Amino acid sequence: MPAITVDDLTVLDRLPAPGLGDQPRAVWQVTTAPEGLEGEGFPVRRAFAGIDLAQLDPFIMMDQMGEVDYAPGEPKGTPWHPHRGFETVTYIIDGVFDHQDSHGGGGSITNGDTQWMTAGAGILHIEAPPEWLVEKGGLFHGIQLWVNLPRDAKLNDPKYQDLRSGEVALVASSDAGALVRVIAGEVSGHHGPGSTFTPMTLVHATIEPGARLDLPWNVDFNALVYVLNGSGSVGTTEQPIHTGQAAVLGSGDYVTVTADGRQESRSPAMDVIVVGGRPIREPLAWAGPFVMNTKAEVMQAYEDFQRGHFGHIPA
Ligand code: MN
Repeated sequence: MPAITVDDLTVLDRLPAPGLGDQPRAVWQVTTAPEGLEGEGFPVRRAFAGIDLAQLDPFIMMDQMGEVDYAPGEPKGTPWHPHRGFETVTYIIDGVFDHQDSHGGGGSITNGDTQWMTAGAGILHIEAPPEWLVEKGGLFHGIQLWVNLPRDAKLNDPKYQDLRSGEVALVASSDAGALVRVIAGEVSGHHGPGSTFTPMTLVHATIEPGARLDLPWNVDFNALVYVLNGSGSVGTTEQPIHTGQAAVLGSGDYVTVTADGRQESRSPAMDVIVVGGRPIREPLAWAGPFVMNTKAEVMQAYEDFQRGHFGHIPA
């Protein structure tokens, strides 16, 4: 798990331990992600598939891409495809992913980098491993999160943010047993580099065996925990959770995740994504690559796409 790591966590700023009046967030639900294939056939886990959309709000879905160790010639991506009405956030933990879009955005992201694409009114893009990686094969692991936009912003101009691993805010848990990477939003005054339209926080935490992370969390945000690898528990009631499972938490001041003392040898620590945001609370009409408020708007999106209004595939 390269992402971005620190050898000595004790040199980092520490998160405050929960105060006397601080309420832990209770665990409402633990779900297991079904596995599937995306794009040209790369393996994904549909992280939030079992969770009611009202509880995910402002998020639509999240895929864990891989972890997969490709043989030479095997790495896969997506063909060119459209999006409208939301943002895609792709965080690469291992491997390389290239991105290109019809709005001039593009780049290559690798270990710990993030691309934040605001589709807004409409964009065409392609997400694929570079040629040299296809030939060589190798490890591929990341997530893609879909963040909704409110009605007023669905037809905003598209935007592309290239967030490098070195910009991610790094902070340790109060006893330095966990590394917290703030990719977007804010945790206890530590700000990630991602600029978000919908107020939200995105964290990737690595928790050492037996360690407990008490993560201060904005009281206005919902909170979802997804286990990338490893096993442990979530909440102060220590509800068991393992690789490929997601937890929906209730309201409160902080999120608790504890890693089991013994982890599988393949991944010595427990890795989780913690994400939350301010719910948008608008009607949702979601079909394929379009996330709108009404069915008529989704039909309009298909029509505009067919007519070539989403721009053109660059040469
Ligand atoms: Mn896409």
